[in-house]
Amino acid sequence: MSTVPKFVIGNWKMQARHEHGLQLARDIAHAMRDTPPPSHLHTIICPPFTQLDGVHQALREVCLPHEQLAMGAQDCYPASSGPFTGDISAPMIRDLGARYVILGHSERRQNHGETDAIIRQKVKAATAAGITPIVCIGEHLAERNEGRAASVLSTQIEGSLTRGFRGILAYEPVWAIGSGITPSQEELQRKLQLIRALLPMRLMTDDIRVPVLYGGSVTSVQAPSIMSIEAVDGVLVGSASLEAQSFLDIIGAAAEATAPQPSP
Ligand code: PEP
Repeated sequence: MSTVPKFVIGNWKMQARHEHGLQLARDIAHAMRDTPPPSHLHTIICPPFTQLDGVHQALREVCLPHEQLAMGAQDCYPASSGPFTGDISAPMIRDLGARYVILGHSERRQNHGETDAIIRQKVKAATAAGITPIVCIGEHLAERNEGRAASVLSTQIEGSLTRGFRGILAYEPVWAIGSGITPSQEELQRKLQLIRALLPMRLMTDDIRVPVLYGGSVTSVQAPSIMSIEAVDGVLVGSASLEAQSFLDIIGAAAEATAPQPSP
């Protein structure tokens, strides 16, 4: 029986209004209670800040173990408190039940000028608050086409992860996000192997196994082939996580693709 956990993470972004978000959380939680996925599969939903409290309450009502279904936030500030108007700290999201936080998503790197150094500060803040960081890395299309993906990924890993990083890494090629395009199996395998080779250098140990996920236009159609790639520990899902059934289909596909093989 495989003991390596696999992850399905839903990133709702700024897309679900309050009632929609709460209903989505209830629908996912009820379906998972009725048909529990295998225990090696961990599902995490990441609503906007304004819905954290409500979603947390909705999940508590269903009483699923948090390894099975947990909640994450989509960002946090590097400082734990202070005069930072409009920002939200890691302890604040922890207070509302978040166990995970997405950091360094390409939309934040692009729209908020987040650098690797800022992301690393956020990783430290999340870890200090007892929250598991989910750090996103990924190259732009031009960087890929110019053969620079490896150096971009290496720089992002070196710059945004802390030395003793204990979290999740999501490889999200920027060109695959929201585009309906996913890398070929061969390309994905190559990139994930590269990332896995770079990690011990950053962490200065190969004793820590950081789960590495793929994100970018994942639907239940691509999920089985993506999840069957040896180096992939899960998927980070954007648009397809906004509708309960499409997200549940991805969870189902991931469960099937990673089901432990019976011993001969
Ligand atoms: C994302 O932005 O993290 C993402 C994976 O989005 P989508 O699935 O919509 O491409």
